Amino acid sequence: MVWRAARNRLPTTSELLKCGVNLQNASCVLCQSDPETAIHLFTGCLFSNEVWSRVGAWCRLSPIFAFDVTDLLQVAETQTNSKEAKYILRGIVFTTMWALWNERNARIFKDKSRRPIEVMENIKSSSYFWIRNRSRWKDIDWNNLCKYPLDLI
Ligand SMILES: [Zn+2]
Repeated sequence: MVWRAARNRLPTTSELLKCGVNLQNASCVLCQSDPETAIHLFTGCLFSNEVWSRVGAWCRLSPIFAFDVTDLLQVAETQTNSKEAKYILRGIVFTTMWALWNERNARIFKDKSRRPIEVMENIKSSSYFWIRNRSRWKDIDWNNLCKYPLDLI
């Protein structure tokens, strides 16, 4: 999903319209204001910005200035020093993009919507399961992850 987003290959409403798909509403389902493009969805959207600012507060980052998907992919490189912290932050950025894309899909296809704080809770639990199941750090603590995730390992 992140790979597709970085190459503007996600089936956003703007891309579907370009392909001639007939859509009733081309605006972003998260904010209902701007046309939905990958750049808008992940960087320009007010809803996404609230989620990113919660992620930033959780990870104690400097404000994230992202104007393109590739800027998001640079966050871990520019805002952390150790190899381990980069690894975790990269995973959290991917998880956040995945959670935003899932929220968008849940609204379109299941008529379900969550608030930014609920999406944030999902990012924390998904990050926890991802680190436990996909990395060699199996014994990370949930409470420590919730407090501050970047010095877990
Ligand atoms: Zn939006």
